[in-house]
Amino acid sequence: MSTVRILIDAAALHERIGALGREIRTFYGDEPIVCIGVLKGSFIFMADLVRAIGGDVRCAFLGVSSYEGTQSTGEVRITHDLAASIRDAHVLIVEDIVDTGLTLAYLRRTLAVRGPATLRIATLLDKPSRRKQPVDVEFVGFTIPDLFVVGFGLDLDEAYRNLPFVGVFDPES
Ligand code: 5GP
Repeated sequence: MSTVRILIDAAALHERIGALGREIRTFYGDEPIVCIGVLKGSFIFMADLVRAIGGDVRCAFLGVSSYEGTQSTGEVRITHDLAASIRDAHVLIVEDIVDTGLTLAYLRRTLAVRGPATLRIATLLDKPSRRKQPVDVEFVGFTIPDLFVVGFGLDLDEAYRNLPFVGVFDPES
């Protein structure tokens, strides 16, 4: 495997996710929150975030796949749907990274019609420079430049998800 240069180290991730969790809990007060992790990339962030939020948190997962294809709008599909209704729930979508915005714009539209009480988004990373579709993201861990990152759940062909930091490939390796 090539060398991966650390962009955000484990301590910075721990600190920021802790702060984000406290911010989210303060925002919702004592309300129960249904956190929906978008598979697979969010699973490590989700595990840390739900513990940082504390209180009444339920966990669910959605699988999506996106195809960029020839259409500029791209195409997103749900490959693994929620097992339970989200009607009247305070839903927080938990994503690893927002890039073009196509995935989250699609998920927001798709989940909104299921009648949640509220629907918001938390993402570990945001790459706003690559946005093709505007999407409101209420809780952002880190805003990063236009780099392809791996680690902390994010993969390259399924590898690197288990790195305890977010990194980029070192061009010299
Ligand atoms: P979007 O629909 O916002 O373009 O794409 C979001 C998805 O693309 C993410 O959930 C992630 O799976 C993938 N993605 C976008 N940027 C990166 C990146 O820098 N590294 C990795 N590993 N995946 C990315």
